[in-house]
Amino acid sequence: MPLPQDFLDEVHDRNEIVDVISSYVQLKKAGRLYRGLCPFHTEKTPSFTVYPDTQNYYCFGCGNGGDVITFIKNYENLDYIDAVRLLCDRSGLRFPEDAGDREDNLKKRILEANRLAARFFFETLKSDEGLEARKYLKRRGLSDETITRFGIGYAPDSWDKLKNYLKSKGFTENELVEGSLCGRSQRGNCFDFFRSRVMFPVIDVRGQVVAFSGRTMGSDTRKYVNTKDTPVFRKSRIIFGLNFAKNSGTKRAILVEGQMDVISLHQAGFTDAVATLGTAITDEHAKLLSRYVDEVLVCYDSDAPGQKATRRAIDTLRPTGLPVRVISLEGGKDPDEIIREKGASAFRAALDKATGSIEYELLRARRNVDIDTQDGKVSYLNSAVSILSRCSSPTEREVWASQVSSETGVEKQTILSSVQRSIRQKIKQEKQKQEKELPASITGKYHLKPYEREKVGSVSAEHRLVAAVFLNPDYAKKVSELVSGNDFISVETGSLFDQIVSQINEGTFNGYSSLSQTLTTQQNALLSGILADNNGVGFSTEDTDYYVSKIVESRDRNKLEVRSADPDQLMKALKNRKGK
Ligand SMILES: [Zn+2]
Repeated sequence: MPLPQDFLDEVHDRNEIVDVISSYVQLKKAGRLYRGLCPFHTEKTPSFTVYPDTQNYYCFGCGNGGDVITFIKNYENLDYIDAVRLLCDRSGLRFPEDAGDREDNLKKRILEANRLAARFFFETLKSDEGLEARKYLKRRGLSDETITRFGIGYAPDSWDKLKNYLKSKGFTENELVEGSLCGRSQRGNCFDFFRSRVMFPVIDVRGQVVAFSGRTMGSDTRKYVNTKDTPVFRKSRIIFGLNFAKNSGTKRAILVEGQMDVISLHQAGFTDAVATLGTAITDEHAKLLSRYVDEVLVCYDSDAPGQKATRRAIDTLRPTGLPVRVISLEGGKDPDEIIREKGASAFRAALDKATGSIEYELLRARRNVDIDTQDGKVSYLNSAVSILSRCSSPTEREVWASQVSSETGVEKQTILSSVQRSIRQKIKQEKQKQEKELPASITGKYHLKPYEREKVGSVSAEHRLVAAVFLNPDYAKKVSELVSGNDFISVETGSLFDQIVSQINEGTFNGYSSLSQTLTTQQNALLSGILADNNGVGFSTEDTDYYVSKIVESRDRNKLEVRSADPDQLMKALKNRKGK
């Protein structure tokens, strides 16, 4: 069910876009606009722009754009309804609960089923059926207190115990399958998804059980099985242990490989340990971490895959600006083993010796070559230059350049100028890549003013007509008598045009506020791009007449081409259409 328009207007009124985005992105005023570094892609010069006049934003670098709700949706990784909810909370507005849709209801049901399932697993662990699992946890050195704190449980060796229990509580099989607590066979039979496993509930930062991770106790050779992605759980967004770590008071996170490591570290007093679940760290994880901590200590296994994962974690965390250090554990052990065998103090010692990410990478680069040979020295210098070009500050660069200089005997200044060159090259490459990938309208290459309209092709005429009616709704009536979205070459722009015009003609149009609910993500970005390209342009009725004539001309030309049934001509006509 759609949200009422007057409510959405209120949401937009109370959440001024510059105001809202400022709390996420540092914005600088530039004339009537605001600019900042884009939170959706990595960049050094700001191409992320906010337009207070039209209440939208647009990034010329990556094409992300839309209204204030779109921004929250994209930034916080929420769906539309939850983004509106967040803006309601922010501005003290009440969300009309009866407007909550099916999706919303299903989420609530799954969360409730998960809560009950966690209870069920926990009780089963304490029962006779849980004996083997209890022994296992004891062998792993977990205390009763830790088991209770993490809500660890046991899924019995049964195909339907949990299913029957939850059905007795009023849940339907469909709800259980959608929540991944049950699976469905090809014949349509519903069965317990987790069987004969030690169960670790996965709890989000709001304290809700969103998923489970189960470790095998039976014959299943898959060591860990996790909940599949559901409406309340995406593994690319959840960090195990963050619900505790965010309150640990240290403002840092120790990133480890598995949830057993997390639990064992917490028991040993390191309550800021976290792990991703069955996946390498993603950009979304990095963003989530940066919201709660000021530093990340990566502590992965010291074997080759662990080292690779460490490099990847450093790369993924870099755009967040969070300082990253690396903890190396001796003898190829994981944190859980270290603590069980040598105690918390051994881990503390390793933690105190954690190296910064640059130091870590330099160490690795040096380890791979023989620095006493000429070739080895050159190869190390090349790696070092590339590593130093990733330093976040000039001071940091200076410090490490000094070290590399004393290691190799090459002057510091020489190293620093190589680093500078490497940075410039990277920026240049990035720019070229961007320009190659993006259409000219986005790179801002053709910022035509209306008086240059003889240069306007039919595609940009379509864009301009959309901008003109958006900014001058009083033009819509006349324009819509002459053309419709069907006449447009671009289906997407045509549909955008139709939506705007029909809202204006029905009297419901209120800029982005009335469109936000109906536009697709692509249309949202498209519209923002169009408005950004035409920012500050005053459209006269002569201009719109001209755009209309361009569109009509191209439509009729295409019709003619199609009608002249010559196959070659037809192909040409089709190709022309595609090319635009
Ligand atoms: Zn961007």
